[in-house]
Amino acid sequence: MSQREFRLRDTMSGKVRPLETVERGHLRFYTCGPTVYSYAHIGNFRSFLAADLVARTAKALGWKVTWVVNITDVGHLTQDDVADAGGEDRMEKALRSKEGEQFANVWELAEYYASAYIEDWKRLNLTEPNVRPKATQHVREQILLTQELIKNGHAYETPTGVYFDVDSKPDYGKLSGNTRDGLKEAVRNVVLDENKRQQADFALWKKDDKHLMQWFSPWGWGFPGWHIECSAMARVYLGDTIDLHSGGEDNMFPHHECEIAQTESVTGKPFANHWMHVRFLQVEGEKMAKRTGNFYTVRDLVDDGFDPLALRYALISVPYGKPLNFTMQSLRDAERNVERMREAMRRVEGSLGSLEGEGAPNEELQRIYDEALDAMCDDLNTSVAIAKALEGAKAINRTEDAHAGLWFLKKINGLLGIVCNDYELCGGTSKSEEEPKVEGRAVSEWIEDRDTAKQSRDYAAADAIRVKLASAGIELRDSPEGTTWVKRPVGV
Ligand code: AMP
Ligand code: ZN
Repeated sequence: MSQREFRLRDTMSGKVRPLETVERGHLRFYTCGPTVYSYAHIGNFRSFLAADLVARTAKALGWKVTWVVNITDVGHLTQDDVADAGGEDRMEKALRSKEGEQFANVWELAEYYASAYIEDWKRLNLTEPNVRPKATQHVREQILLTQELIKNGHAYETPTGVYFDVDSKPDYGKLSGNTRDGLKEAVRNVVLDENKRQQADFALWKKDDKHLMQWFSPWGWGFPGWHIECSAMARVYLGDTIDLHSGGEDNMFPHHECEIAQTESVTGKPFANHWMHVRFLQVEGEKMAKRTGNFYTVRDLVDDGFDPLALRYALISVPYGKPLNFTMQSLRDAERNVERMREAMRRVEGSLGSLEGEGAPNEELQRIYDEALDAMCDDLNTSVAIAKALEGAKAINRTEDAHAGLWFLKKINGLLGIVCNDYELCGGTSKSEEEPKVEGRAVSEWIEDRDTAKQSRDYAAADAIRVKLASAGIELRDSPEGTTWVKRPVGV
């Protein structure tokens, strides 16, 4: 294991400090994933990419990483930036919209956008998290946490739901600085609910027997609040105290503040030892908004012919702690630079005949890689790390030592993911490989079975096939033209 310190800015202390893990050499990490009511946009992906770079850097240091990225498919309301969210469930609203007309029900809508998000995740070459838990699959754990909070005096039932009593947690506000006194200001414009002890108290459970996604609970039919989802899922998969929790800057308050209050009030232990918040992406200097026509999803840009790896490059080119102004010019520049990396790869492949094996470093490329890793360990300084990747590509074009070139390209791709997509075959090798068999049947036969299952709306069976193939190293890729497969390189 490397002796380097991995330093990251921690929102709670306001300092860049070493990322310390409870278990030595094992990072347990939770990232707030998307709400699947629509396609994730490139701003969402800026946040996910920063988390991906944490996972990649930790792995480059030889750490084990357990990374959980949830999928929010219920309970995230439209008015989510105030102490207790109001408005309507984003999922329900989406079903009633024009785009929603194509779905038979809200469950299909959720399934569709969750798959689209995972597809975009792979296009942008993010590493696969260990778990992608869905909020709707963990309602039982959310009910249990809520019951626990009522039992120990931190929550109470009203005619409209169950609410967390923020006065019961004296340090509420410690992450965002929105202390309870400040909150009295913040909640002024919120619809008043006379049943709550104070307006800043937030919902753990909403009673609603009209909601399209509802569960039976000790408080009748209803659905969970958005914050309790993450507390429950983080605890199920990572335990009482996690090493690192990340999200976009808007998650700091109220979402993460509420997660802390809930979890700590049940466990009596710190919820997360390190907090990471990603600054928002802007487009051509403005807030990204559908209204102003500067709203981009990954698929918008890929359909326009942009290289997904160049999009990745552009989205990570500015360190996550600084605002990123995404421009079409930056994307075109990124395409040129990714091409330089590919050119180096083709050169290496040309000399060695294939891209197989690990290669071996020479002194110069080892130094350049070490500098890139040092930059990533310095609060994910991607602008320096990327400059090092390009310096390495230049060095490869000068050297006769193709083995060192191969070594560098594999290492730098592991760290930054900007040379070739791990979910696709890189270089010209093994593309004509014979179709592999899984449990004695060809992959194309499994794909046919899955299509049949999907047509009869048996999504569980369809998903089981996808999972079966994935565990055999076969990744399915859905597109309007049909499903194709790729072999996923071992170890990514
Ligand atoms: P949501 O789907 O709204 O739950 O958001 C998913 C993640 O994307 C959250 O961590 C948000 O904080 C983050 N996010 C949303 N908009 C942006 C943006 N413009 N730039 C960076 N991150 C964002
Ligand atoms: Zn969350």
